[in-house]
Amino acid sequence: MKTKQKARWYEKLWIASIIYLILSPFNILFAWLGLLCFFIPLLISMLKGNKAYCNRYCGRGQLLTLLGDRLKLSRNKPTPKWMRSNYFRYGFLIFFLTMFINMLMNTYLVMKGAESLKQVIKILWTFKLPWNFAQYTYASPWIVQFGFGFYSIMLTSTILGLVTMLLYKPRSWCVYCPMGTMTQSICKLKQKQ
Ligand code: SF4
Repeated sequence: MKTKQKARWYEKLWIASIIYLILSPFNILFAWLGLLCFFIPLLISMLKGNKAYCNRYCGRGQLLTLLGDRLKLSRNKPTPKWMRSNYFRYGFLIFFLTMFINMLMNTYLVMKGAESLKQVIKILWTFKLPWNFAQYTYASPWIVQFGFGFYSIMLTSTILGLVTMLLYKPRSWCVYCPMGTMTQSICKLKQKQ
């Protein structure tokens, strides 16, 4: 008879991802918590030289598995070769980092008073969704601006993840996820040391 294995706390981190996506538009300061998904994988790969974050702790990865595998929402087709190529993966990483720096620049301009706060959630770096429902009591405009910019990045990458989950394998996003590409590069560099 099979014994049921006890679920580990980190196997439920997909719930945190959903909460993050839902709460941030209503209190944009929540968007800052998304930085954990940036710094934790980088720190783990730098300190431990492995991809434990991707394999265990990534809520988004778990969410894609849940929707694609368990709920069978994925067509489960092979991830296209071009998507797996280094050209695409590193090209997307450069594009992503450029957009990230652009977002930081906007935040800086608001901090310096050269630009006014824009309450806009930008989807796929193109479509602007004016959003006036976000609360941000007592926060400086640049803190709020960062929240809008960062949430836009998190939402955009989630949408890309969902679309590729629907079209191909559930975790196809992980093939070109900038964090995955960065941590993989760090691990390779560490192995060479
Ligand atoms: S590749 Fe990206 S989305 Fe996939 S598990 Fe790693 S950090 Fe998460």
